[in-house]
Amino acid sequence: MGKPTGFLEYPREETIERKPLQRLKDWKEYTKKQPEDMLKRQGARCMDCGTPFCHIGIEINGAAAGCPIGNLIPEWNDLVYRGKWKEALDRLLKTNNFPEFTGRVCPAPCEGSCTVELAGPAVTIKNIEKAIIDKGFENGWIQPRIPNKRTGKKVAIVGSGPAGLAAADQLNQAGHSVTVYERADKAGGLLTYGIPNMKLDKDVVERRIKLLRQEGIDFILNTEVGKDITSEELKNQFDSIILCTGAQKQRDLTLPGREAEGVHFAMNYLTQATKRLLNIEVSEPFIDAEGKNVIVIGGGDTGADCVATALRQKCKSIVQFGKHPKLPDVRSDANMWPEQPNIFTMDYAYEEATAQYGHDPREYSVQTKKIVSDHNGRLKELHTIQMKRTSDDAGNMVFEEIPGSEKVWPADLVFVAIGFEGAELPVLKEFGVEINNNKVNAKHGDYRTNVDGVFAAGDSRRGQSLIVWAIQEGRDCARQVDLSLMGSTVLP
Ligand SMILES: Cc1cc2nc3c(=O)[nH]c(=O)nc-3n(C[C@H](O)[C@H](O)[C@H](O)COP(=O)(O)OP(=O)(O)OC[C@H]3O[C@@H](n4cnc5c(N)ncnc54)[C@H](O)[C@@H]3O)c2cc1C
Ligand code: SF4
Repeated sequence: MGKPTGFLEYPREETIERKPLQRLKDWKEYTKKQPEDMLKRQGARCMDCGTPFCHIGIEINGAAAGCPIGNLIPEWNDLVYRGKWKEALDRLLKTNNFPEFTGRVCPAPCEGSCTVELAGPAVTIKNIEKAIIDKGFENGWIQPRIPNKRTGKKVAIVGSGPAGLAAADQLNQAGHSVTVYERADKAGGLLTYGIPNMKLDKDVVERRIKLLRQEGIDFILNTEVGKDITSEELKNQFDSIILCTGAQKQRDLTLPGREAEGVHFAMNYLTQATKRLLNIEVSEPFIDAEGKNVIVIGGGDTGADCVATALRQKCKSIVQFGKHPKLPDVRSDANMWPEQPNIFTMDYAYEEATAQYGHDPREYSVQTKKIVSDHNGRLKELHTIQMKRTSDDAGNMVFEEIPGSEKVWPADLVFVAIGFEGAELPVLKEFGVEINNNKVNAKHGDYRTNVDGVFAAGDSRRGQSLIVWAIQEGRDCARQVDLSLMGSTVLP
């Protein structure tokens, strides 16, 4: 245990960030390197609970509570408090293939479940995780681990997001020859084209891909499975295949005027912005928010990333519409510990918008009724109405329009960020795997599809989720694949 009285002596110290107006001038990560003494104090706050809820990932009401990959959190909290960083890294890498990703962008369900949360703010677990892995790279402790024996078995992985990368890493370490197919020009899935650079620097993703290549994993980029290479060809060449194609089919607005010029899917916008940053050519006209009145439809994290991107492109104004009311400042009775807290927070994008314009860009309980364009078909304005959340006779949540609350918003650019329908189906159909509710039909913990030798993991199986779940599924699925290939498995 860190310091028996640590949680009584030290308060939680929040992540130190760069100043919002400063960071809007560039695309670098918005957080700073956290000072070592602060991290040690936070490690000292850990109580080394007999039942560490932080460490055991379960799902409550559809959300993660505790760490889905079973990170050995109390152990590395203690080691960091004692300054034993190398030992902390060894413990961290036992459960997490890519702590440099989760340490930066995981919503940290571990912290929502931390026992200290019962009486005050949780241990800053995520900051400690990031510091351990960053120190590992800085000190050269992370080196390629090249397997010294090969099994002769070949595995193909379709999709190079965190699920595909985690599965590839595990199977490569087990001695199998792994090839990852990716349709994009870079590996990483949403780590590369999705999550903006200011949350997760693309050099951090690239560094990991380089390491995986050095360890023997073959990446075949710019290759769409089902188009550039068929499922039959893969089945003939490989002993097992894992489908990690994600759940990137975006939900669209079905509104009058949707076809107006200037209305874009959030993902197209975010992908283009990252490509420009990386000096990669985009084939379609570049979507630039400079000097424009921008509205983001959708109150989630993807929408927040659009806000932060548009701010960096120097938009004229920015508003984000959310369907739901503002969240409470403290947990409601229906959202008790150890569930992930569903409370009002200031995400990085909202801090930045507030610093730039003096107010939070979020508008709550808004329903867009129609999109109006000018006589050239160019977007001109959005018409909205305020909604009231209530319940019907059966107790189901319903939304009612508030008469007289109609409003017109001038707009030059609109980003549609209302979530994802599920996996893209053509490639799944090409493999002949069963599909249920726009996801591959394969059980969590088993990952086998109805097609012999074909497995599925990550968002393609679970629906749009979190990086940490993708890593969990990639690791776990690798174990099942190893078992099916070898009759026993060495993987955790
Ligand atoms: C904008 C945005 C921001 C997010 N921010 C966060 C965050 O801050 N924290 C967090 O935890 N989660 C976040 N998420 C969710 C997280 O990124 C995903 O849950 C995670 O990336 C899923 O991993 P995956 O490997 O299953 O799929 P993906 O990351 O979606 O990767 C799938 C890959 O498969 C490739 N592919 C698909 N079809 C084919 C084919 N036929 N042939 C070859 N390749 C193919 C795709 O090009 C893609 O590279 C965010 C999601 C979005 C959209
Ligand atoms: S729940 Fe919190 S206090 Fe308890 S072991 Fe985990 S991090 Fe430490």
